Amino acid sequence: MLDKLNCICHNIIMKAWKVVSKEEMILNEIKSKPLGEGQVKVKLNYSLITHSDILAFESEQTEPKGIGRLGVGMISETHESVTSFSRGDRVLISPYFVCKDCFECNNDNEHLCSNLKVLSENTDGVLSDFVNLSERQLVRLPENVSDNDAVFIEYIAHALNVFAKLKVKKGEHIVIVGANCEGIICAQLALYYQAVPILIDPRAERLKKASEDGVYYAINSVEDNVSAKILKSTGGRMAEYAIITSYHDAHFLRVLKYVQRGARCVFGSVGKSEEGGDVNIPSKNFNVIIEKSLSIHGVPDGFRSLVSAINLLANKSVNVKGIITKETTFQEVDKTIEELRETQDRFVGAVVKY
Ligand SMILES: [Zn+2]
Repeated sequence: MLDKLNCICHNIIMKAWKVVSKEEMILNEIKSKPLGEGQVKVKLNYSLITHSDILAFESEQTEPKGIGRLGVGMISETHESVTSFSRGDRVLISPYFVCKDCFECNNDNEHLCSNLKVLSENTDGVLSDFVNLSERQLVRLPENVSDNDAVFIEYIAHALNVFAKLKVKKGEHIVIVGANCEGIICAQLALYYQAVPILIDPRAERLKKASEDGVYYAINSVEDNVSAKILKSTGGRMAEYAIITSYHDAHFLRVLKYVQRGARCVFGSVGKSEEGGDVNIPSKNFNVIIEKSLSIHGVPDGFRSLVSAINLLANKSVNVKGIITKETTFQEVDKTIEELRETQDRFVGAVVKY
């Protein structure tokens, strides 16, 4: 009987979206591989299309690349060596995979692992119907966290890592550049820490969403005089902190003007930056950093904070409803990517329902 069951599982046809060359993607079908030691098979329920996936679609590929960084699903099969999870468990797929072998991993600095692999960046992604993964890549989800909210957990974890760098105190002001998923969640977390977020973006509808979540200072970078508004909202002192989740050359110098002397600034987004390419920083910008005695940090991901992020979501301390308004189905991922890239929504993404 067991042999028969294994046989059925191994014969599943798994479908995965792959970018095969520039602006060409396919729904690839392969026969499911047998699970290896410590592996489980996850049936995806929800995932996200992010800006990184759109950038992958627009790039030349040397070999077919599986996209999709964030996913939530249910365990459909486990290898006999797996003890932490069972069939039917609802799980978040962590996008990170550390080697547990390098100097950093051996010194409790796994977040700095020299061989860190991230789903869809340097290994295939999870925009697939089934995926075989190590049990180390899974986090069990509590009942009161829904699947469609759970796909935002990495963004919340990223925001937690940002605030761990900033160390904000009650009543302090934080300029947040970019009302994308990262920016809106950082603004909510600022309120959670009783700080004052000042959110800046050119898109009125994104600022409206943040205002509905209680962000009082939502500044339109096209229509408003940003510096004057920050000056007024901080009582003439400018902000103690800046979080930059959307950046290109011009932003860099502007942001440095929004903060006061001695400010801490974090640059960071989940996955690739909005512009995708290299950011060239003119040398005069460095003089401002030195003159104003600024601290600059980078936060690339939510590594190590996924469990804390799940707790914030479970306690309803963060509201992810309405952060992404576009929803699509697994079958229509290619069509949705084509649609998203023509609009400002490319920086926000879409929720994929299976
Ligand atoms: Zn390592």
